Amino acid sequence: MNLPESVKFILDSLNKNGFEAYIVGGCVRDYLMGKNPHDYDITTSALPEDVKKIFHHTVDTGIEHGTVSVVIDKVAYEVTTYRIDGEYKDNRHPEEVIFTDKLSGDLSRRDFTVNAIAYNEKNGFVDYFGGQEDIKNKVIKGVGEPAKRFQEDALRMMRAVRFSAQLDFIIEDETLKALKENASLIKNISIERIRDEFFKLILSSHNERMEILLNSGMTEFFLPEILGKENDYFVLNKLSQDIVVRLSYLFKEIDFNQIKKIMKRLKADNKTISAMVTIAKYRDYKIESLYDLRKLKSLVEENLFRLIEVIGAIKNSSMEKELNLIEFIKKDCCSLAELDINGKDIIEIGISGKDIGVALNSALDYVMKYPEKNEKSVLIEFIKGEFKWQKH
Ligand code: ATP
Ligand code: MG
Repeated sequence: MNLPESVKFILDSLNKNGFEAYIVGGCVRDYLMGKNPHDYDITTSALPEDVKKIFHHTVDTGIEHGTVSVVIDKVAYEVTTYRIDGEYKDNRHPEEVIFTDKLSGDLSRRDFTVNAIAYNEKNGFVDYFGGQEDIKNKVIKGVGEPAKRFQEDALRMMRAVRFSAQLDFIIEDETLKALKENASLIKNISIERIRDEFFKLILSSHNERMEILLNSGMTEFFLPEILGKENDYFVLNKLSQDIVVRLSYLFKEIDFNQIKKIMKRLKADNKTISAMVTIAKYRDYKIESLYDLRKLKSLVEENLFRLIEVIGAIKNSSMEKELNLIEFIKKDCCSLAELDINGKDIIEIGISGKDIGVALNSALDYVMKYPEKNEKSVLIEFIKGEFKWQKH
């Protein structure tokens, strides 16, 4: 395996100081699948205080679990002491973390065989649970006794489905059986951790694996609204890897008030919630003219491309025409901020109070119909005319 220089440096430095060190988990799995690892996790026999002595720049990222980040050239690498987890009492956290000097102990606490392979240049791949074979056969299989592992930490069930969707692996029979039998334990996991795994699943290329979630009984606990709804997962798989776009398609039959409730329950951030609500409000909007498109842009602002993609997915249409039109109206005024007049100009012609907003909005609507009219003098005349007409 061709390791980046900084990773080699960390492994070598730990070695020179008398400790074992390996890269482990996702990076080894990704490498064995022929993919470029997106980050490198390191596992070592050194205790956190040893790691902090060996390297100049470290950060205590999760020191209570044995994790110290070593920073090299502004990149942080997580270095974690070999550990075995103590008793689990509440299906989510071990009572205590116990450090060990054996790599085998550390690998056996990991969730799936494909995530439990370690590697260093001296010893090559260390694979006690057949992870390499499972990667070859494209199988997600629990390390040890799957039921016990899911009871220890119920989030692992979500992770099993998420990895199966990201990697396009099937879930091995015993692991799947244990998942179905223990599905209700997911209620003990915080909504944030469930959401993070669920969002990774939605963003994957194999949303059809969501069926496992739906059939297992896990979905009831965090997203009952999608149960019993028709879904074309192959459409979902092809959409932009944008959580707002994909969720909007998944929720295409749910009204915007309920979507707001769901997103709040999932503790999504406000920007995501508001984008989802906006898209749900306008997903049935008909675009038949350039004016319609400008009007839509003024209503949904930065969510226009997302919305067009969602409308296209729902209608099973390429939206090529609409996308070309967006290019066409790119420079047109579609917001009050782009209007060639402002509140001050309106006051100057003797309009006050609530009427200022009314005047600005009617000018905007006018300009969206006739984009070439976005010029101060023209708009002033237009507003004077409008108001004269209204008073009579
Ligand atoms: P990704 O590419 O999504 O980062 P990853 O395998 O690196 O995949 P992480 O969530 O970053 O996944 O976790 C790193 C490693 O830590 C995993 O490969 C696994 O060995 C171990 N791990 C993480 N979460 C758990 C868990 N809940 N139970 C057991 N082991 C876990
Ligand atoms: Mg990772």
